[in-house]
Amino acid sequence: MPAGAHADYSGPMTQNWAPETVVVETGRPPREHDAALNPPITLTSTFIGTAGVEDGGRQYGRYGNPTWEPFEAALAELEGSALPGLVFASGLAAVTAALDLVAPGGTVIMPRHCYLGALSGAQESAAAGRFRIVTVDIEDTAEVTAAIDAAVAGAGDRASGRDRSVLLWLESPTNPMLEVADLPALLAHARAAGALSVVDNTFATPLVQKPLEHGADVVLHSVTKSLSGHSDVVLGATVTADPELRELLHHHRSVRGGIAGPFEVWLALRGLRTLALRVERSQANALALAERLSEYPGLEVRFPGLATDPGHARAAAQMTGFGSILCIVLPTAEAARTVAESVRLWTPATSLGGVESLIERRRRHAAEPESVPEGLLRLSVGIEHVDDLWADLEQALDTALG
Ligand SMILES: *Cc1c(COP(=O)(O)O)cnc(C)c1O
Repeated sequence: MPAGAHADYSGPMTQNWAPETVVVETGRPPREHDAALNPPITLTSTFIGTAGVEDGGRQYGRYGNPTWEPFEAALAELEGSALPGLVFASGLAAVTAALDLVAPGGTVIMPRHCYLGALSGAQESAAAGRFRIVTVDIEDTAEVTAAIDAAVAGAGDRASGRDRSVLLWLESPTNPMLEVADLPALLAHARAAGALSVVDNTFATPLVQKPLEHGADVVLHSVTKSLSGHSDVVLGATVTADPELRELLHHHRSVRGGIAGPFEVWLALRGLRTLALRVERSQANALALAERLSEYPGLEVRFPGLATDPGHARAAAQMTGFGSILCIVLPTAEAARTVAESVRLWTPATSLGGVESLIERRRRHAAEPESVPEGLLRLSVGIEHVDDLWADLEQALDTALG
């Protein structure tokens, strides 16, 4: 990394700003008369070097691009790491890099419900003999800690030196079931046992949950979702406070090639500027809708913000909010389909975390685990007026169930 020779986007860590200020102010060029307020987009595949010597410079666009740096600085500051984050071509490219941290022949412990792409990618690697997967119910802390202990015992002496034979993969809340893991307990157990841990923090965002503070080794995001927030880019990122792990992830990105386009990262930083406002509004909308939906007859509502939700106490203890994703379970696949087809304001589409509200029947994907109910609809709540969202949802529910 070239560091010193370039504009310093490393951010005002020392100022202890609130996250609402960090998202607006971090990652700006130095203040100089007539300088641009925003960092530029650098479009280049190559960087000028020093004749004849390895000069520690950027060299080539696959190793680094100045456009990445302000975003990586901001993300690190939000997640609470002194080391810059790493932006990847997609959330799944970041997932692949993080899964590849596990040693050959090692064990990855994964939630039985989690982002489908992560689960199927891991299953393909396992089928190819790269590592073993153990799936667990992350709501069941005893089951997960027993799986960690068994995997560490199976790895013999190797795991004790943190040689990466065992990797605990967590997502909380999970996609799409919104199960909440006891992050402090599970991450402390993994650390004490010598297992690495990765937390996919896409659903919560760093404004709501900070896995590094709970002891995670690596935090991962699909930047595509809330961080960029406008459904116009596909990007991913990792953040770790461990220099060795960061180097491994950086190496993976450089040599496997899952790099981000400069324009996408610039857009992601632009989107990040309003993250706090978007999260505040979409979370408030989600809570209000969850409450109204739980009054609707014949529906099951899953949302950690509801006091009756099994994940509520944990979420309240480890998150500053409850996120903007909620699920409703209709009695049949047919009824769920009718709702998704009857909405006019909500958009039937996959993805989540954008300003616009989306609705999706998850079992339409053939690979979705069978333990996800046929009638489950995942709702990504946007920043529209909650009464408009409710009116549209209510008429669609009336059509399906009335
Ligand atoms: C979307 C998503 C991913 C994958 O990210 P892409 O940007 O689509 O590659 C990973 N994890 C979670 C929780 C997601 O929602």
